[in-house]
Formats: sequence, C-alpha cells, structure tokens
Amino acid sequence: MLAILHPNTTLDSDAYRQTMHYLENLPNVSLRVHEVQGASQRLTEIYLLGDTKSLDKEEIEALPAVERAIRISEDYRILGRHKDDQRQSGFTYNGVEFNQQNLNVFAGLCAVDVPEHVEMMMKAVEEHGEVCTRMGAYKPRTNPYSFQGHGKGCLPWVFEKAGKHGIKVIAMEITHESHIEEIDTCLEKLGRPTGVMLQVGTRNTQNFELLKAIGRQSTYPVLLKRGFGITLNESLNAAEYLASEGNSNVIFCLRGMKTEAGNPHRNMVDFAHVPAVKRLTRMPVCVDPSHSVGTRDASPDGILDVEHATAQGVIAGANMVLVDFHPKPEKALVDGPQALLMHELPAYLEDIRLCHETWKKRQAIYQRMKDSAPE
Ligand code: PEP
Ligand code: MN
Repeated sequence: MLAILHPNTTLDSDAYRQTMHYLENLPNVSLRVHEVQGASQRLTEIYLLGDTKSLDKEEIEALPAVERAIRISEDYRILGRHKDDQRQSGFTYNGVEFNQQNLNVFAGLCAVDVPEHVEMMMKAVEEHGEVCTRMGAYKPRTNPYSFQGHGKGCLPWVFEKAGKHGIKVIAMEITHESHIEEIDTCLEKLGRPTGVMLQVGTRNTQNFELLKAIGRQSTYPVLLKRGFGITLNESLNAAEYLASEGNSNVIFCLRGMKTEAGNPHRNMVDFAHVPAVKRLTRMPVCVDPSHSVGTRDASPDGILDVEHATAQGVIAGANMVLVDFHPKPEKALVDGPQALLMHELPAYLEDIRLCHETWKKRQAIYQRMKDSAPE
C-alpha cells in the first residue's frame, strides 16, 4: 500500500506526526518514506511494506496527512503503474521535461574524441532546435583493451561547449560511482553551464553497487539501459532497485538484446517493448536504435535500418531517442560504423517528428473507437 501525503506536508506538522504514529504502530508493517520533488510541489510518499493485505484503504485515507492511498502490487513499487494509480510520470530537469507523453532527441557522439568534433556536433544540434545530446567520456567496452574514453580530462571543455551551444542535458555514461563526483565537481566549477543525465550502460544494469550510488543522489536524472542478456523484468527490477535508494527520476532505455537471432543487426531490436514498459511502469521510455541495429545498412526504400528502427520505436510511443552521430565516422574512436552523418540530421529529426505526431493520431483513432463502443 502506498500513502500519498497532502502536497507540501512538513515533517514537523501535527498531521504528519499523528499519521506516522498510526502507521508505525501497524502490526507487521514497515515504512519507507520517499520524497518526490515535482515541478511545483514536493510530495511525500509512504510505502507500507509487509503484511498490508488486511489494511483498509479508507482508514489510511482518513489519516490527517494522507491525501490518498493506493494499493500497489509487489512489482516495481516506486516506478510501477498500479491499479487506480493516477500519479504523473516523469520529471523536469534543467528546464527540459521528460514524461511518457513527450519526446526528446539525444543525438551526439558515442564517445568524445576531439574538441573539433564535439563542437561540430553541438553546433548542429543547436541549429536544429534541439537542447540535448549524448557524449561518452567513460566507455565500457566489450574488449577491455579497447579505448575506454577520455574520462574526466575532457569534461571541462565538453561542458563549456555545451553551455555555448545552449545544450541543457548531456546523456553521459558512467562506469564507476567516482564519476558522479568528477562530473559534479567539474559542472560546479564551471557554474553549471549544462546538465548531465547519468547513463547506466547495458553491461552495468546489474551492477548493484553502481545502481545504489546513482540512486542515492538526486542531482542528476538517470538513463538506465536494459541489460542485453537478461529478462525485461530483471532490467525493470534494476531500475526499481535504483529508485528505491531515493532517486526516481529514471528513464528506461531499450537498446536491443544480444543474440545470434538478431542478425544481420548487432542486437535483436526490442522496440515492441516500448508500450509494455509504459504499461508496467511510469518511466519515460527511450530507444537506442544505434546500439541495437549497429550498422549503416539501408533497405531498398533508401531508408537506413537505424532510421526504420527509430521510427518503429517512436510510432509506438517512445519518449526519447538516443542516437550516435559523427561528423567523420571513419575517425571515430568508438562505433563509427553505426553513426549517422551530420547532413542526415534534419531528415532524421523530421522523420521522428512525423512518427511522434502519428503516434498521437493513433491514440486518437483508438480513443474514438472506445468512445463510440456500445455500453
Ligand atoms: C552507449 O550508449 O554508448 C553504449 C555503450 O550503449 P550500451 O550500454 O547500450 O551498449
Ligand atoms: Mn557506442
């Protein structure tokens, strides 16, 4: 059971004290208090765990600080979508909204290489009206002897350039909890010219120490990638585990599954799971067509498989696209062969907008059908 308190309930109020006194004395029930900072107000949610089946929802709702109570299922307590659960999805970070209705595109470099390429990339993103990008400074690799990224050394000039080009959010993978502090220290020193979304890569979806460290901070939102060799449920549980440490500003990213069955793609594209994740949880859902498709092959219609896969994810309601671009893929240090080219950016964004609008129209079609269905 989840008890949502009246907005802005203070912890020193009588209503809060009385409510907690009652809840703390429920037999075989333990409490977990979770603070949620919305755009305009702070919400306190109290998770009642344990023997809650016999609890009376109305009795909990009658407590002075409680606005409403929701019976929640066992799975994904914090991030899940429960019956009669009207809580909003998503969050705002550095002026950019992330939720299950809208769409943000993060086109950028898989790995930061030289300032000239970062500059070209960010300039292009800005010129096309976008405010987000991806920039890998810490790169986990399949082969540990491959290039692992420039690390904290590149952060100052990457963040400065982002500020110059009006970039509000950079998706940046971290592979160790010490990277959070490196990023934070650098941003602080520069006066926070941009924001960072901490990315958990597919190789780290079940790195529980990393998940805990990221979940304990709430300065930066999180992009959690699906593990490429585990079930969807296991990956969603990883997201829930992270959120249970305190940070529920999490976006879930589909990036394909590692299996021979995915050939000729690098991974088996799993974007049919976009609506499934939106149904099971309240997380905004991202698709990463670059790492799932992994090639620049095109079909006879002249459209690249990466572009087709993007369209498939967005038309199914994806809320974010994470995609590799590079001004000179032959010079890229990581994943050059799958990168889109700068001149392909405008058409790509146009295609994405078209698919996002089409998704909205699709919803309208089915809504009309429901509205006119006989009772
Ligand atoms: C990436 O996005 O750069 C990346 C390494 O992705 P993944 O963790 O999905 O392989
Ligand atoms: Mn990559």
